[in-house]
Amino acid sequence: MTLKDNHGYHMSAEEFRRHGYNLIDWLADYALDVERYPVLSQVAPGDIRAKLPPVAPQVGERFEDVMADFERDILPGITHWQSPNFFAYFPANTSGPSILGELLGAGLGVQGMLWLTSPACTELETHVLDWLVDILHLPRKFKSTSSGGGVIQDSASSATLCALLTARERATRFNVKDSGTTGRLIAYGSTETHSSLEKACAIAGIGVQNLRKIPTNDRLQMDPAALSAQIVQDRSAGMQPFFVCATVGTTSTLAVDPVAEIASVCEENQLWLHVDAAMAGSAAMCEEHAALHRGVERADSYCFNPHKWMFTNFDCDCFFVADREELINTLTILPEYLRNQATESGEVIDYRDWQVPLGRRFRSLKLWFVLRHYGVEGLKHHIREHVALTARFAKWVSDSPDFEIVVPPNLNLVCFRYRADNDFNKKLVEALNRSGRLFLTHTTVRGEYCLRFCIGQTNTAESHVAAAWRLIEGTARQLQAHLDAEK
Ligand SMILES: *Cc1c(COP(=O)(O)O)cnc(C)c1O
Repeated sequence: MTLKDNHGYHMSAEEFRRHGYNLIDWLADYALDVERYPVLSQVAPGDIRAKLPPVAPQVGERFEDVMADFERDILPGITHWQSPNFFAYFPANTSGPSILGELLGAGLGVQGMLWLTSPACTELETHVLDWLVDILHLPRKFKSTSSGGGVIQDSASSATLCALLTARERATRFNVKDSGTTGRLIAYGSTETHSSLEKACAIAGIGVQNLRKIPTNDRLQMDPAALSAQIVQDRSAGMQPFFVCATVGTTSTLAVDPVAEIASVCEENQLWLHVDAAMAGSAAMCEEHAALHRGVERADSYCFNPHKWMFTNFDCDCFFVADREELINTLTILPEYLRNQATESGEVIDYRDWQVPLGRRFRSLKLWFVLRHYGVEGLKHHIREHVALTARFAKWVSDSPDFEIVVPPNLNLVCFRYRADNDFNKKLVEALNRSGRLFLTHTTVRGEYCLRFCIGQTNTAESHVAAAWRLIEGTARQLQAHLDAEK
């Protein structure tokens, strides 16, 4: 009997082929038609679940029926991150080569915890991350051919956690790993640092109370003098400073911390320096933005997310360390059932020792596909286009008498507000997102509620940005007229 006529309940190869072709057609059409849907899903909480049967099917169903239900019941609950009118948060952009790389990885179904469990899964990852060190103008020490190396994590949050854990072990000479005693460790970020640092402090047993949020200057960059002063104060209180997270492109306003100055403070005090460049890091491949990485050559670890602004679908964070031994010693646990000769020879990388979980997907495939499809030139071209569009948008805002820029725009983000109170700006964001024609989010800067407009979607063109600006102006005018009429 052949596999062909003995598939039991499984999908046959022929069925898989047919549905697979149709699904790729569906995705290609989706990418072309995505502007037909409201960008922000307009469903209410519980709407989607209400459409689903209360119990799972006992008898298998036809794939066509599942797809039809997907279109009818699930699609309305999708917020269209791949719409060219998506300007919210930070992008999670994807692309044809990335989706195909992801599909190929799923088809291979590899679990790459050890080198042995798929040598290519490990070696392609190591190789592509070494490429990225050059592409992003990062220091050589982050290469696998040096003392360091890179690894793909699911997210920047996991990268920060791994950095914090390794710093903790360095500071306590592996006392926490071995005995569970954390002592009096103190970590530092700024008031603008991503919340994942606070979460990492909770998880790593540092304690949220032992994270110091250093104040920022008027450009929302960490103040190195304040950092230095806080370290002195903590030391004199008998605490043990050990870790600083600097940010290249904060989530709220894309502020860039003075990494070189912070590195000096870290060197003086022997603290681990982690640099979080989750979105902005991608821009450093362009020569005119390479200075974003100034000072990173003095960092112990660094991360950025190709899944934000490098056309690689979620999840894909690249995490680099200067000293891989410390990372591995922190995260390695070797149970008997994983022992093997390749590992024992010391000649291979086992990426399970570079992350929190044991198992891992073949994520470097999509990254490799993206790099080979676009080439570095292609990636730079599209990043430059986003930056140029952002500058144009910022000009329209600053030329308007009714709006003001709140912080100087950087790279692909503009923070701005209508010249009215916070309540008006909040209503403006709500009205815009209710329209379904675009999606943007907000932040507060020095107590002022402002709109965040981030351009990073794969297919966003000038026409989308221009239409968005007309909609923002028009909606604000309507709101103002409505308010004037009420008076
Ligand atoms: C988006 C972002 C993160 C979190 O990214 P995840 O990959 O979702 O964990 C962390 N830091 C900064 C600066 C970010 O912009």
